[in-house]
Amino acid sequence: INKIGVFTSGGDAPGMNACIRAVVRTGIYLGKQVVGIHQGYQGMIDKKFTDMDARSVRNIIQLGGTVLKTARCVDFRTYEGREKAYQNLVDAGIDALVPIGGDGTFSGAEELSREFNIPVICVPGTIDNDLYGSDFTLGYDTATNTVIEAIDKIRDTAASHDRLFFVEVMGRDSGCIALHAGVAGGAEAILLPEKETAIDDLIHKLEEGALSKKSSCIVIIAEGDKNGGAYNVAKRVKEKFNFYDIKVTILGHLQRGGTPSSFDRVLGSRMGYAAVKSLIAGETRKMVGLRGNEIQLTDLVDAIHNHSFKLEEDLLDMATILAI
Ligand code: ATP
Repeated sequence: INKIGVFTSGGDAPGMNACIRAVVRTGIYLGKQVVGIHQGYQGMIDKKFTDMDARSVRNIIQLGGTVLKTARCVDFRTYEGREKAYQNLVDAGIDALVPIGGDGTFSGAEELSREFNIPVICVPGTIDNDLYGSDFTLGYDTATNTVIEAIDKIRDTAASHDRLFFVEVMGRDSGCIALHAGVAGGAEAILLPEKETAIDDLIHKLEEGALSKKSSCIVIIAEGDKNGGAYNVAKRVKEKFNFYDIKVTILGHLQRGGTPSSFDRVLGSRMGYAAVKSLIAGETRKMVGLRGNEIQLTDLVDAIHNHSFKLEEDLLDMATILAI
């Protein structure tokens, strides 16, 4: 391996910059050249390549988002698109890749490496924390802390006005952010994509809270919850339960941004460092992940096929008890 290409793809996640920095500096330290590919697979097709040196990643560890930008690229889903991207990599002398992204990014990397035999070691970067082979994905910790900060603020106004708030958080298929932010924010109920919640059961729980003199209520709803999102749940609850003034807050994209937490900075650094060392050691078609505080490699195909958040039922049960 002489020249490593690093890029971010799919949704951005806080901590990606720490990872880019680690890839660049580890590669250079070990005598390799490193190229930054802008806008993920789209940049690979459009030849958006920049030679990186140790100074080109200064002052980025503390930044949210990704300095290499990210994109979703339709052309890369076709063989012709990947062939063009590969030819551009060959022309630029790039002979190994570190893709940072979610399972879609991994699928693209898996196909490219299989079809053209280019080594790849992927890094799990997504706030959803739903990738097999890593206890945590890059960005999840920061996103959850952002949600908690918002819940704390909402709690202040909810308690002052005896309000019931439905707060919708990110997680189309994964309830990880909702569950953990719900526990940490003391939510009265948590609705997740992985588990159906009947509206009548929710109302019953809220009635019990009202009877026990709760002055405010916060219900966290993951966007992928089967009841159709916070507005729908609020509307249906309002039809039968009128004890509180009911409000809805959709946190939306603010959950993606912000200064990465120390956890995500350390995780991004460890994963980027390990990805480059693994490539140089001859590994390919793997994902680096954190398991039990150790960096481990998982087969890329396994990471893609098993991707999902395994609902921690015990946490959900505990959250119900702690919210009485
Ligand atoms: P997030 O979890 O944040 O959504 P992601 O990496 O899963 O991140 P996607 O949009 O699914 O995000 O994938 C990123 C890019 O990877 C796509 O825009 C596309 O270019 C490429 N990609 C996804 N799936 C495939 C596939 N099956 N074959 C080739 N390329 C793919």
